[in-house]
Amino acid sequence: MDRLSERGVVCTPFTLVTEISGKTVHTFHPYTKAERRIENVDTVVLIMGKRPNDGLYFALKGKVPELHRIGDCVAPRKVSEAIWEGETTARQI
Ligand SMILES: Cc1cc2nc3c(=O)[nH]c(=O)nc-3n(C[C@H](O)[C@H](O)[C@H](O)COP(=O)(O)OP(=O)(O)OC[C@H]3O[C@@H](n4cnc5c(N)ncnc54)[C@H](O)[C@@H]3O)c2cc1C
Repeated sequence: MDRLSERGVVCTPFTLVTEISGKTVHTFHPYTKAERRIENVDTVVLIMGKRPNDGLYFALKGKVPELHRIGDCVAPRKVSEAIWEGETTARQI
């Protein structure tokens, strides 16, 4: 946040993206109901709902003698949880 502030990044909380068309992003404020168009957008980085990528775990389950499920494969969280679970699991092995 320090570096974002130093570089003049403008944060706009409570802003839902309703449409991206070409270089225009349409937004909606859920509380004020204000709609806005942001023109000439170069890049949109989407960070949306999260779900585990657990396909490999379930593909291997029951087919290998030992299998552990840790980190975001269990549920997407923070990196500290993944590191903690990785360390404790590695120590058990
Ligand atoms: C955009 C974004 C921002 C984030 N910001 C933060 C933050 O600021 N602070 C924070 O603490 N956490 C943040 N996180 C969460 C953090 O990145 C994760 O919690 C952490 O990386 C989970 O570690 P992991 O090892 O469980 O999974 P990953 O880091 O996702 O590692 C899993 C690896 O397995 C590989 N893989 C998947 N399926 C297969 C397969 N079938 N075969 C072979 N390889 C496979 C993937 O390619 C990947 O390399 C953020 C996550 C995202 C997406």
